[in-house]
Amino acid sequence: MTRILLRNGVFHTGLASGEPVSAMAVEGGRIVWTGTDPDAFASPDEVVDLEGRLVTPAFVDAHVHVVETGEQLLGLDLVGLSSREAVLEKVAAYVTDLGPQDLVLAQGWDETLWPDPTLPTATELDRASDGRKVYLNRIDGHSAVVSTALMAQVPGIAGLPGWAADGRVEREALRALLPLLADLTPAGHAERGARAALQSMASLGIGAFHDNAGPDIGPESDLEAVQSEATAAGLHGTYYWGAHLGFGDLDRLGDISGLAGDLSADGSIGSRSAALTSDYADLAGHRGHAYLDPEQLADHIIGCTRRGIQAGFHCIGDQAIDNIAEAFRLAEAELGTETVRARRHRLEHCELPSPTAIKTFADLGVIASVQPMFDGLWGGPERMYAARLGERWQEMNPFRTLLDAGVRLAFGSDSPVTPLDPWTALHAAVHHRTPGQGITPAEAFAAHTVGGWYAAGIDDAGTLAPGQRATYAIWDRTAFPDLTSSDVADVITSCLQTVVGGRTVFEKEGVR
Ligand SMILES: [Zn+2]
Repeated sequence: MTRILLRNGVFHTGLASGEPVSAMAVEGGRIVWTGTDPDAFASPDEVVDLEGRLVTPAFVDAHVHVVETGEQLLGLDLVGLSSREAVLEKVAAYVTDLGPQDLVLAQGWDETLWPDPTLPTATELDRASDGRKVYLNRIDGHSAVVSTALMAQVPGIAGLPGWAADGRVEREALRALLPLLADLTPAGHAERGARAALQSMASLGIGAFHDNAGPDIGPESDLEAVQSEATAAGLHGTYYWGAHLGFGDLDRLGDISGLAGDLSADGSIGSRSAALTSDYADLAGHRGHAYLDPEQLADHIIGCTRRGIQAGFHCIGDQAIDNIAEAFRLAEAELGTETVRARRHRLEHCELPSPTAIKTFADLGVIASVQPMFDGLWGGPERMYAARLGERWQEMNPFRTLLDAGVRLAFGSDSPVTPLDPWTALHAAVHHRTPGQGITPAEAFAAHTVGGWYAAGIDDAGTLAPGQRATYAIWDRTAFPDLTSSDVADVITSCLQTVVGGRTVFEKEGVR
């Protein structure tokens, strides 16, 4: 086995001890030695002079949709467009290269950025696309606008909850469209998307990811595509399947860590479908939708715990999160505290948790898989959370409170909902928009590295110490970033090499 010695670097090990490290040796996919005197490591086969560059553990993205991220990279991207007209113009320009039967698949519109938040209608999409089948996914994936030609292919959609005559679909109506979308996408589409997304991750220093697949997200073949592309690319994948009581799916799907991820206990704030205990500030009498009650949630947690896998839910509003906390107490009563704790169950987003729910999750070792860029994009007194929730925007994404209560955090992007961009996420977590909820750079970095491994049930990765997996990134910098905005902008493009289990998965051209 090749013994590689990296010397003359600045190492951010992620260890609390803070012992200085300027050299590291790797053998057989593991870190075998760290220290300050490279001569203390005998007879390496290869020596790399880092010339004072920064080395850190590689990032883990604990919540990503790999195929959808690739679709955004390769397809029609509506992120950041500033009006309904701009969306329609982009669709019109895009279809000029397409055949009349081609599906138009677009992601990322966000009407909260528009001066007039009126959505495009099916009729307007028909006109912009020359009558094609069009699917415009909202940035949060919880609602979409579709054209008449697409709707016409799903008989009975008009009767389903979440359907509107003007082309807006959510909930059951949205779910009814997914098999059709899978049928209409060309062969090899998922593989191409997964490959593009994985390349992008590796180039940003992300060495591991948690793919949040599920029957409400895409077909099983998407999951298989991600698994085979990740094996080929060398990134470490952890796979979740968001199916309620989907125990029968497990044998068929293979390498699944849990029936978790985007198994939705509610919707989103942006789509006003997150389940709240009080009315939406901008829609009196409306409190969103809880999709599963505490008994249904408890059945799932108990079933997963008994089978030795993780349970987890997408949850955003305080009503949905309270339901889940109640369910965890039911599971605890049935199985005992330690049995539940040992499984490291997890919650995705967990944005508006009540103090009681936080206490429950701390007691039962439930991990909060959170997205700092949600606060970065939508937090503060003047953005989407404030528009939908009024003063309650200040209760969203309470990272400081969660950590202080003893809840473990894992950071993710929810890409394509927010971009793959770990350093900007760290900046957002440190400079939280709610006063008092920011966390330290070291805590934020840990949540985006070792926190993600922990949430996947893996304890031998995420720091740079002997015995750990050799999973690290080398940056064209001489210090750990101070996480100011300008410094973050600078560090993003500076990834030189990403290594996962000793294998190089990305190397910037011209580095060697
Ligand atoms: Zn998600």
